[in-house]
Amino acid sequence: MAKIHELSENLTNQIAAGEVIERPASVVKELVENAIDAGSSQIEVEFFDAGLKKIVVSDNGSGIAADELDLAFKRHATSKIATERDLFKIATLGFRGEALASIVAVSHTEVVTSSDGISAVKAEFAGGQKLSSETSAGTKGTKISVSDLFYNTPARLKYLKSPRTETMKIVDIVNRIALGHSDISFTLKNEGKILLKTVGNGNLRQDLANIYGRFIAQDMLEVKQADPDFTLTGLISKPETTRSSRNFISILLNGRYIKNFQLNKAILAGYGSKIATGRYPIVVLEIKLDPLLVDVNVHPTKEQVRLSKEKELSRLITTAISSTLTSEQTSLSGLDNL
Ligand code: ADP
Ligand code: MG
Repeated sequence: MAKIHELSENLTNQIAAGEVIERPASVVKELVENAIDAGSSQIEVEFFDAGLKKIVVSDNGSGIAADELDLAFKRHATSKIATERDLFKIATLGFRGEALASIVAVSHTEVVTSSDGISAVKAEFAGGQKLSSETSAGTKGTKISVSDLFYNTPARLKYLKSPRTETMKIVDIVNRIALGHSDISFTLKNEGKILLKTVGNGNLRQDLANIYGRFIAQDMLEVKQADPDFTLTGLISKPETTRSSRNFISILLNGRYIKNFQLNKAILAGYGSKIATGRYPIVVLEIKLDPLLVDVNVHPTKEQVRLSKEKELSRLITTAISSTLTSEQTSLSGLDNL
């Protein structure tokens, strides 16, 4: 056996990239989440060749100060948490300080960013190394272009699905993030063609109309329910509007799109026998809760979280959905009597 030695920073970044950056859609997710954390009101995503040739995410957020740029691309460097206690009350989408370091480890990346709206810094990275940087005039915000993703990790390239599937995964994640942030205007372009444009005026129904179509959106019912721990808001389809896949259910926890089997089940339980087995509703459910009640530090992609009151939340969700559907029926039967 060879002697034990510490791995180089480059190599550890590539290993971390394997967990955080699985596919082009992961790059999009991480960059968009950074743009949201930076307080942006406008975010544009453009991609080419299913994201493998290029992904560009531009925002009008806080920007990165020129003297912090190198740090931003280092692993475990973040502006979002500082102490151990912060780890238990994560209020931002990011906190691990891994995304940028991981992305530059497996791509050619160019960043242009300005934190004062006067001067901008532009830097280029490849395979984890900074190649160049220069300053110029610039408007406030950040634009990150990621080219040739996985050019130095052929195994990862091989593992990817068809361009069509990878494209769908990008569209899906942007749609879901946009639904969780109707106060932000999102634009998504595939090779120059606009796939999604949201207004950013806080109107979830309008965003849903942009994504799933006007007829579906105008027919959806509003959910509103709260207890001392959780506030639920969102829109759900009537039982007669269903899909054959559960992909049309989006759960957002404090603005973070999450995957959670129990909460999904709780939604379906709210519909009960009103929908047939194997059919699924269209749902956007936003859950607001004290960050102390959720542990986001479970998985590198942060899509799985641990909830300390999952049972209580599940019950609230089921009640919220079933009472929304019941009150809709009551108001309809009220109409019949007119
Ligand atoms: P994390 O989001 O977990 O902090 P990242 O590697 O994604 O880690 O980003 C590192 C840091 O770079 C962030 O903490 C933030 O300070 C800065 N940053 C990244 N993207 C942006 C952006 N679009 N606008 C402003 N700052 C950014
Ligand atoms: Mg991040």
